Amino acid sequence: MHDDMSMLRDRVAGIRQRIALACQRAGRDDATVRLIAVTKTHDAATVAGVLNTGVTDVGENRVQEAEAKIEALAAAQPGATWHLIGHLQRNKARRAALLFAVIQSIDSVGLAAAVARHAHAAGRTLDILLQVNVSGEASKEGFDLQHWRSDPAQLAAFIDAARDIAALAGTRITGLMTIAPLAADAEQARPVFRALRALRDTLRVQAPEICWDELSMGMTDDFEVAIEEGATMVRIGRALFGARPAPHA
Ligand SMILES: *Cc1c(COP(=O)(O)O)cnc(C)c1O
Repeated sequence: MHDDMSMLRDRVAGIRQRIALACQRAGRDDATVRLIAVTKTHDAATVAGVLNTGVTDVGENRVQEAEAKIEALAAAQPGATWHLIGHLQRNKARRAALLFAVIQSIDSVGLAAAVARHAHAAGRTLDILLQVNVSGEASKEGFDLQHWRSDPAQLAAFIDAARDIAALAGTRITGLMTIAPLAADAEQARPVFRALRALRDTLRVQAPEICWDELSMGMTDDFEVAIEEGATMVRIGRALFGARPAPHA
């Protein structure tokens, strides 16, 4: 247990150093990049361990799996900020609205409305990111913005959706999230990250009444490239906790 803890401390320190170096290359302040420790498949003790190293943000991709950990750690780790980063089914919107502080995977007006309604009823306001698909090969999840540069109607439809979501009580848009396609080389993800940032800059001009500050992009294999391209949140699992067991194993 003690050895596990010192290994985790070393890994967190190593990641923080790599974040700082990537910020330096990009001329950015490293306080502008938030490390989200992705703890899916790992138990509550592991989550407690990473929070004890000073990490404050935790990412989970399934409501049910996260629920047990959030409840187990609620008293001991009241300062933790829990992010839902995986696809959210409408029938889990209520649980998600009660459990998480941030939902990064909002991909429709209907889902946002369901989350907002439950959050509002509970007296909460959740930060949400709109998940977008800016690259052809990326996962099918997210608002479809593969052609936003060449197709003004696609961008306009997204802005209409964002305005509908921004009008909801119970949630507050803070930016965009994307998942880059799996690639052998981190450089292959660079155009995807660059596109997300360009989209954000365009949204700041075309829908300035909405907050577009956050860019959640970059994972274990490509987070340094994402930071060079403007990431404000990097979601890191394997580099902190090692390989995950195969799903359904
Ligand atoms: C699992 C997951 C991550 C973390 O991936 P690693 O490669 O382990 O760093 C990041 N984002 C999402 C959406 C994930 O599902």
